[in-house]
Amino acid sequence: MKLLLLGPPGAGKGTQAHRLMARYDIPQLATGDMLRKEVANGSELGRAAARIMERGDLVCDDLIMAMIAGRIDREDCRNGFILDGFPRSAAQAEALDTMLSSRSSDLDRVIEIGVDDDILVSRITGRFTCRACGAGYHDVFCRPRESGVCDFCGARDFDRRADDNEETVRSRLAVYHRQTAPLLPYYASRGILVTVDGMAAIDKVTEQILAALPTPSAIDSDDGRPLE
Ligand code: ADP
Ligand code: ADP
Ligand code: ZN
Repeated sequence: MKLLLLGPPGAGKGTQAHRLMARYDIPQLATGDMLRKEVANGSELGRAAARIMERGDLVCDDLIMAMIAGRIDREDCRNGFILDGFPRSAAQAEALDTMLSSRSSDLDRVIEIGVDDDILVSRITGRFTCRACGAGYHDVFCRPRESGVCDFCGARDFDRRADDNEETVRSRLAVYHRQTAPLLPYYASRGILVTVDGMAAIDKVTEQILAALPTPSAIDSDDGRPLE
């Protein structure tokens, strides 16, 4: 299953990816998470990306492609992957197509998680994640069952992102509408785009996504494309 989750910041891409990962035994490839690791490690790429991320702008396509190149060839991607936060521009989408077609491969589905802009700021400013396993939570909408303990792995250490403030969210939203939303008609024209209602409760969003995914036998068909 090669899946792409598309949606504005705070739509629930990471939340849903985390659930689908376990179900399909495929990794989440989140360029935002990869970039934050580079920043934390103080690598050259991380130093170049840090200020851009603080502003909420897009890191340049070349850096992103260098980071993602080779990642989909790793052993953990043998059953596929979930792309989260990539591609984010027309140039990245084209580079991904080239990368996949050179492996006689293609995306099985692109899921758009639709959420109204006015709710996204509150989603993002209340967001925190487990440092150990990356599970996402929210101060109001999605609290751990036991306060201070991760539901998934039991860790007690949580993290809040520096760019999850109101000002940066607004510029990230503008960037989404300008640079990333134009990918939607592109994938729609290829017949692989499905839009789900991201305003619904987390479990309901998962249900909508599962209903939109091709069945395993369809993915295993000769050319790897879903049977319609
Ligand atoms: P993205 O990866 O698209 O930026 P996240 O998955 O991190 O978004 O979700 C943003 C915040 O909103 C998190 O705090 C998460 O717990 C919360 N959230 C995700 N999906 C929903 C939902 N359907 N309803 C309410 N809150 C949600
Ligand atoms: P969100 O979960 O809110 O959608 P991400 O974690 O995906 O945010 O991304 C955080 C920041 O990292 C973005 O605002 C951007 O600066 C940078 N970034 C992540 N992925 C990409 C990408 N594919 N292209 C360019 N910049 C990216
Ligand atoms: Zn955890």
